[in-house]
Amino acid sequence: MSIELQLIPFEFEGIPKERPLVMAGPCSAESEEQVLLTAHRLHNHGIKIFRAGIWKPRTRPNTFEGVGRIGLPWLKRVKNELGMYTATEVANASHVYESLKHGVDILWIGARTTANPFAVQEIADALKGASVPVLVKNPVNPDVELWIGAFERLNQAGIQKLAAIHRGFSDYGKTFYRNNPQWQIPIELRRRIPRLPIITDPSHICGNRDMLLEVSQEAMDLNFDGLIVESHYDPDKAVSDAKQQITPDELNSMLHQLVLRKANIDNTVIQHTLEDLRNQIDAFDDKLLEVLQKRMQIADRIGQYKKTNNITILQSGRWNQLLTKRIEEGLRKGLSEDFVTKLFRAIHQESINHQTRIMNE
Ligand code: PEP
Ligand code: MN
Repeated sequence: MSIELQLIPFEFEGIPKERPLVMAGPCSAESEEQVLLTAHRLHNHGIKIFRAGIWKPRTRPNTFEGVGRIGLPWLKRVKNELGMYTATEVANASHVYESLKHGVDILWIGARTTANPFAVQEIADALKGASVPVLVKNPVNPDVELWIGAFERLNQAGIQKLAAIHRGFSDYGKTFYRNNPQWQIPIELRRRIPRLPIITDPSHICGNRDMLLEVSQEAMDLNFDGLIVESHYDPDKAVSDAKQQITPDELNSMLHQLVLRKANIDNTVIQHTLEDLRNQIDAFDDKLLEVLQKRMQIADRIGQYKKTNNITILQSGRWNQLLTKRIEEGLRKGLSEDFVTKLFRAIHQESINHQTRIMNE
């Protein structure tokens, strides 16, 4: 099922339509000098859209929460003096009114705000009658419906220039990423709303400077449309998200390292070769499903037998043994531990569901 949204292309006069659409600027607007110096350097590298947080939603109190409305005239100077488009985050109706009054060109809704339907509705109501483009960051939790709900609320308020920002998802404990990208979620968003542009935010996914290129490249290889990257003229001095910000020069060199592959296949030889390989994949998928069906039939027989003999469905010793063995065998076959674990967890759960049904019959 795809969602019906009334969308106008997310394009800007003077900005080429080729991927990636790039937005860059500091996490936060800190001072007029910092904003203008950073914007000048980005502008010199051809960046056309300047981002800066004016109001910053912070996890803990007593940290820098943004300069507030006094920063809006700084963005106006960026727009007037450099001809750049400006973008900032809004989290409530008054942020919307203030931003529009000061001529901010693009608004975005932050991840913590997208997670709250009341806040999104308040923003949508405040935007009635406006024609400003709005970007919606994914909610902090991996809930594609909540993300889609935000687009529906904005669209129902008449906002038609919409795009998504993929910034990754919160996790408990220390993980490799600051926010796990869970690429399957923006991929599902694309499936559900094919015409909605997706802009990846490698800065908030990575939380550091080291993996920005890798994550940006992955976004481009998934045919996503743009990148929003945090850039500061002196990243180490940034008052928020210092570890993940890069200089305008570093951003420029990263963008030049990206390999942009084409999404449309216009060559018949390539088309046929791919078609042939895809047919082989389809045949293997059929076999996989057939094998899974047979496996579940055995699980059903085990379920019947356990029921007759009054034995619990789960014997954790057996499950642990099975998983360990499958992981070992998977590694020998070039399949990652992570993949084999997820695959067998899903298969095991389906078996349990089958057996539960039998127990309850
Ligand atoms: C930001 O873009 O600086 C920001 C606060 O992002 P997020 O809402 O993704 O945490
Ligand atoms: Mn930030």
